[in-house]
Amino acid sequence: MSEIRLHSKYDSISCRNNVLELQQKYPFIVLNVIGTSLLGRPIFEISVGEGEKKIHWNGAFHANEWITSPLLIKSLERYCNAIVQDLKIEGVYAQNIYDQIKLSIVPMVNPDGVDLFHYGSAIAGLYKPLVERINAQHNHETFTSWKANIRGVDLNNQFPANWDIEQKRKPILPSFRDFPGYCPLSEPEALAMHQLSIHRSFDRVLAFHSQGEVIYYGYNQAEPSISKDVVSNFQKKSGYLPIRTIDSHAGYKDWYIQHFRKEGYTIEVGKGINPLPWSTFNEQDRRVSKICMSSLIL
Ligand SMILES: [Zn+2]
Repeated sequence: MSEIRLHSKYDSISCRNNVLELQQKYPFIVLNVIGTSLLGRPIFEISVGEGEKKIHWNGAFHANEWITSPLLIKSLERYCNAIVQDLKIEGVYAQNIYDQIKLSIVPMVNPDGVDLFHYGSAIAGLYKPLVERINAQHNHETFTSWKANIRGVDLNNQFPANWDIEQKRKPILPSFRDFPGYCPLSEPEALAMHQLSIHRSFDRVLAFHSQGEVIYYGYNQAEPSISKDVVSNFQKKSGYLPIRTIDSHAGYKDWYIQHFRKEGYTIEVGKGINPLPWSTFNEQDRRVSKICMSSLIL
């Protein structure tokens, strides 16, 4: 079966097109729009499977880490193909996984930020003066360092898990990265992820970022004991190093672990400087795919 084409300038339209293309090809894919970005772009959730156990993957919380979006699309395609071809994934028939797992994927949490990265302030609409001012303040000529959403809020610093600690030590105004907002969940993209997660209460969440080849798996000792075993399996499959905790709060996985006392992982894909070059896609895919597939069978 021919594979879908992943655009090397992977923007919100590429993501939308791939999602629709995959749904055409694999009609068991369920599509859901979980929210709308500030610029009105849909935030898609893809669901596959009919099982009890709920697994979630997300990507591109951060604009210049957009390579995580096509990586998740690629893993989704591989899984769907295994289902229809009756193939095994990590030693288990994909059809059995389908029966046991309900997989949820939000491939691009921050579509405005990703488009800003690729096309610059021309796409920023109402926020054009703001993003240009932020870039001028930092002597940035392009948006390749941009991690935030379109109004300069870092979506992975927006969650109610000791948010006030980050507020005190992070930028106090909109910036290209690290500004946690004026209050938790002020941004529609973060709120959409919060509501989705509350609604579904996933058993295991994997948030894909870049870079570092490490996997953060704890938060304030609130993670379940299984997390340590799962992360060491991820390490075996990918070579990425497990790290239990760092001095960081208000991230999606931090909140998830604290709120639900369930498994949450932040996976830092690849090594180098963001954005990871497109030429490394296959190398990243090899490892990310192993982690994604393992997350379905452990
Ligand atoms: Zn990140």
